[in-house]
Amino acid sequence: MSKKKPFVQAVTPQSEDFSQWYLDVIKKAELMSYSPVRGCIVFRPDGYEIWENIQREMDARFKETGHRNAYFPLFIPESFFQKEKEHVEGFNPELPWVTEAGGEKLEERLAIRPTSETMIGHMFAEWINSYRDLPLLINQWANVVRWEKRTLPFLRTSEFLWQEGHTAHESEEEARQETMRMLEIYRDFVETFLAIPVIVGQKTPSEKFAGAVDTYSIEAMMKDGKAVQAGTSHYMGTNFAVAFHIQYLNRDNQHQYAYTTSWGASTRLIGSMIMVHGDDRGLVLPPKVAPTQVIMIPIGPPKAREQVLARTDELYQELKQAGIRVRVDDRDQSPGWKFNEYEMRGVPIRLELGPRDLENGVVVLVSRITGEKKTVKQENLATEIKQLLTEIHDQMYQRAKSFLDAHIYPVDTLDQYKQILKENRGFALAGWCGSAACETKVKEETGATSRNIPLSPPVNKESCLVCGETAAHTVVFGKSY
Ligand code: AMP
Repeated sequence: MSKKKPFVQAVTPQSEDFSQWYLDVIKKAELMSYSPVRGCIVFRPDGYEIWENIQREMDARFKETGHRNAYFPLFIPESFFQKEKEHVEGFNPELPWVTEAGGEKLEERLAIRPTSETMIGHMFAEWINSYRDLPLLINQWANVVRWEKRTLPFLRTSEFLWQEGHTAHESEEEARQETMRMLEIYRDFVETFLAIPVIVGQKTPSEKFAGAVDTYSIEAMMKDGKAVQAGTSHYMGTNFAVAFHIQYLNRDNQHQYAYTTSWGASTRLIGSMIMVHGDDRGLVLPPKVAPTQVIMIPIGPPKAREQVLARTDELYQELKQAGIRVRVDDRDQSPGWKFNEYEMRGVPIRLELGPRDLENGVVVLVSRITGEKKTVKQENLATEIKQLLTEIHDQMYQRAKSFLDAHIYPVDTLDQYKQILKENRGFALAGWCGSAACETKVKEETGATSRNIPLSPPVNKESCLVCGETAAHTVVFGKSY
């Protein structure tokens, strides 16, 4: 066995080809498989369990803030899409249609939902009658379909899993507060759970959601310097309320349109997490989301095996009871092979236990992120491990944050930006006058798009990088997935 090629040799180094590294790692670590349908992936148990962990944590935060889950149909009548002009224009190119069912042509085509504003708008109109029905705070966990031209597992797929929040309010002020509150929940979740630092900001008009008044996003930087939009929160004003007649009797007994919001985050978070933290040895999973937080590997010659296994099992039970996601690998493989395998799978802590450790009442803990070995007493093992998991999370966040900060380049002109792009990976921070023409020029000449207008930019730029006029905003530009 030990003569076998190390597990990780099949993975392309990040420096050689980052995209290939990503594709190699997600397959090798058995997170996904390609499906026979273009742009769709199969979530294997480890991939799906990461999503379940994300879901559980986000769901708790939504519920804490008063939202309730509901479920709406997958099929949306075509006429619903015609009701909001911008929405239909934005989504039309990506819609798959059901035209026939039960052997008969349908009278009205049904879209497979790309997002549910229209269906939920229709239902909100039925449910909301008076100011007493507001605010209405709904979330849905679902799959949606957008027929994407370019796809990449997790990051951009034709069918993806997500949550979409939809809320209705009495006033603009309340709806705007909700939009920002959910944006903050996304930021907090992504930073404190996935250890991904993000830039929080507002989308420029050309990048906002089809039908929204304002769109806000959190943007993360992958290790190749490209951006991923990790979550969005939209203030819709009364656009959807007008289109779907979401009206209520206000406190003065007058009919008024409700103000609505929507916000979404998807399985794209999994792809971002992999691209932010992974290394040439494979995945590096943030402890809070890892399906296995600790892998126990019993070591030693066959004559000591029984004793080592017995103690391993006792410790396993203890850790499990303490709420740690722990697994034992006692398969007949060499320890070296197993070490490589769990490094590839990104398990945050490896626990080794051999005959000598048994005698000394200790175990060896190895951190996936630093590779550091630590010998710790078997008493209080659960506490030790919990502390190490917290440390690992903090180290991962700090490492990613330093990388992000070091790869944001303030620029004054488009030429300067182009020069930077030749030599570096990362984002540019630049002034922008607010005109669509200047924004388009950046895209044409660099391939980068405006990511967002940070709510608190590290510096404020004075003039537009394209035309030199006074800057209306400081914008983050970057190439994106
Ligand atoms: P949107 O409804 O367009 O604001 O999208 C909400 C969130 O879903 C985005 O912020 C992305 O994180 C995610 N998302 C959008 N399109 C895709 C896709 N094709 N695959 C995976 N995630 C997506």
